[in-house]
Amino acid sequence: MGRPFDATVKNEKELKALQLEGLKWTVNHAYNGSDTYRKKFDEAGVKPKDIKTLDDIRKLPFTTSKDLQEGYPFPLLSVPMEKVIRIHASSGTTGKRKVLCYTAKDVDDWANMFARCYSYADCTVEDRVQIAVGYGVWTAGWGFQNGCERFGAMSIPIGPGNTDMQCQFLEDFGTTVMTCTASMGLLMSEEIEKRNLRGKIALKKMIFGSERSSDAMRKRISELSGVAYDQLFDIPGMTELYGPGTGLDCRYHTGIHYWADYYILELLNPETLEPVSEGEVGEMVVTTLRKEAAPLIRYRTRDLTRLMPGECPCGSVMPRHDRILGRSDDMFIFRAVNIYPSHIDQILSNIKEVGSEYQIILYRKEKSGKDHMTIKVERAQGLTPSHDLDKHIRKTIEHEVKKQILVSCDVEVEDYGSLPRSERKTKRVFDNRE
Ligand code: ZN
Repeated sequence: MGRPFDATVKNEKELKALQLEGLKWTVNHAYNGSDTYRKKFDEAGVKPKDIKTLDDIRKLPFTTSKDLQEGYPFPLLSVPMEKVIRIHASSGTTGKRKVLCYTAKDVDDWANMFARCYSYADCTVEDRVQIAVGYGVWTAGWGFQNGCERFGAMSIPIGPGNTDMQCQFLEDFGTTVMTCTASMGLLMSEEIEKRNLRGKIALKKMIFGSERSSDAMRKRISELSGVAYDQLFDIPGMTELYGPGTGLDCRYHTGIHYWADYYILELLNPETLEPVSEGEVGEMVVTTLRKEAAPLIRYRTRDLTRLMPGECPCGSVMPRHDRILGRSDDMFIFRAVNIYPSHIDQILSNIKEVGSEYQIILYRKEKSGKDHMTIKVERAQGLTPSHDLDKHIRKTIEHEVKKQILVSCDVEVEDYGSLPRSERKTKRVFDNRE
């Protein structure tokens, strides 16, 4: 029994055949439709006819966010302007905004992909979906909205914020699915608890976009809202690749199924740009298979993840990747080891005696010329400082870092609340070498 909007391919062999067909189409389309791509291909000495197998993707040059910036306002455009029916833009925290063009078919494909997300979250046309993400030039609201309409459930396009109205709609309209960021999901769950709404509402699922949710956060949301833990879903997505809705973790939560009939995902070592071995963390590099207005060819997303092995109990042919584990831009090299702050983050989050804030300080000792690393952490909130406690924290972290990352470090333990906080991205790595 198939899920509505699922891929038409029945097995890996059929998927690969579809991917090869899409790859050949994309390469031809981009080469003939875009000066930027043609120039890149010519410089790399590769022609569309050189793509005969899926492995030939490795002959193709990479595309980066720099290409998007240089092509502003309509980068990578591969169709005549009159074919474009919509643009979207990212919020753009660094440099210029990323602007992407869409043809009617691109918008249609995106709606189908997103409808598949609702399908994988076991929604039905009976569902009532309260869409509490931003509507505007960015992709979130439009993605959830068009996907919901394509799927055939009832949409309630409320947008973010406005807690009173959110709660009223939950009660009056019998909302069964709420879509929002995980932070807003937590806020809404607190309101549901506070206003004693649990017996009065029909909410049974939440789908989170744009921000990853930790296990602890999901547990808390489930406890407060009464929504079952396995009915909380994560939707990944980036503006460059249509927007949100390019995959979803199904109810078994064995990783995020990604729509491999719409794009190829390569995982590469960000230093060597060679494929990582199976199960290893690498940078997500995507190539679209049907995108018309602004196709992506080996686009370096800078996001890090790994592929999940084996099959999912749900029986889907769609492969899975892990949650986003960090950004390759954040990587630093220490004593010839590639280290990601997210890895240190992960180690610290498993040690209950420390808080969530930390700093990594790198320096070189003049005498020996050797590199050293100090990790500054805070004692968890409410713990009484003592010599033994601090010693225990230091030893535990030093041991875990040595065991998991294979390097030595020193640890400094500080009072809770003493490290700087910021609402935006907090700077964590201070490289004082040189
Ligand atoms: Zn599954």
